[in-house]
Amino acid sequence: HLNPVEAMGSLGSTVLGVEISHPDRVVYPDDGVTKLEVARYYERVGELMLPHVVDRPLALLRTPEGIGGEKFFQKSFKAHVPPHVKVKTLDDGTEILFVREIKGLISLAQFGVIELHPWGSRLPQVDKPDVLVWDLDPDEKVPWKETLGAAFLLRDCLAEYGLETRAKSSGGKGIHVMMHLKRQHTWELLKPFTKAVAAKVGEQNPKRFTITASKSKRSGKIYIDWLRNGKGATCIAPWGLRARPGAPVSMPVTWEQLAEMGPRGFTIREPAQEPENWMSIEPQSLPISLVREISRG
Ligand code: ATP
Ligand code: MN
Ligand code: MN
Repeated sequence: HLNPVEAMGSLGSTVLGVEISHPDRVVYPDDGVTKLEVARYYERVGELMLPHVVDRPLALLRTPEGIGGEKFFQKSFKAHVPPHVKVKTLDDGTEILFVREIKGLISLAQFGVIELHPWGSRLPQVDKPDVLVWDLDPDEKVPWKETLGAAFLLRDCLAEYGLETRAKSSGGKGIHVMMHLKRQHTWELLKPFTKAVAAKVGEQNPKRFTITASKSKRSGKIYIDWLRNGKGATCIAPWGLRARPGAPVSMPVTWEQLAEMGPRGFTIREPAQEPENWMSIEPQSLPISLVREISRG
């Protein structure tokens, strides 16, 4: 690991050939994390992260003045598209951004992007997802152990049908449970499926869970957010940095690691790890009969 000063001394402020302007501008004021450190982070995790991002339409969270300043989501660049970032117009006329190489991640960092939020589907079949996610959103009062327990209930619920899931920290207070699948079915079919799965888990303990987004119904509960599934819906990328104090990342973990993980999770300064169950993911087949059976509830 080079610290930013050493890195500048030895290599200038170019990362993978991408020039980083204002390299020592502080992006995370409480933590002293600079723009160059952000770019170098994406270089470091690039090889692991890229397969989860490549060819997926992106929503980008930019913080040009650092995370203490204005934050905004962006799905397109009006005039100046950063180098190594691609643009495409979908059949419905929506213009989307995507990347195909690690340089694209670095280039986005150069443009003040901290967070990358990909769709659950990728080009050219944006109507057919290959990743589903259940985003566990605990209310502030919920003890961490309960959120952990919810992730394991979800895993076990899907495992009963022979379906494999993986987990990652959200980089916030939550956990994302993900299911990788072959591109067989449309969002239209799978969105109700994700709701039905959330409902199945929710029913196990209605006092602890809700599947309704309404804030008033979430007090003291874990919201099993299934609305991250749908055309245009996003979830923070695996290994993605968060624009939050402490520079946390959404870190893929094994189920064993998750059980040991505390609420603090992982940060930009942690070494990038590739847990065994996240290596070369084999997309699973989800029979239509099973989709129908589970969706019926
Ligand atoms: P936390 O642990 O704090 O819940 P999170 O990333 O899961 O972290 P959520 O608020 O639950 O945060 O949102 C889930 C996902 O929904 C985000 O990762 C993001 O991809 C997407 N999202 C939420 N709000 C927006 C928004 N305003 N614009 C675009 N995407 C959004
Ligand atoms: Mn969440
Ligand atoms: Mn959510």
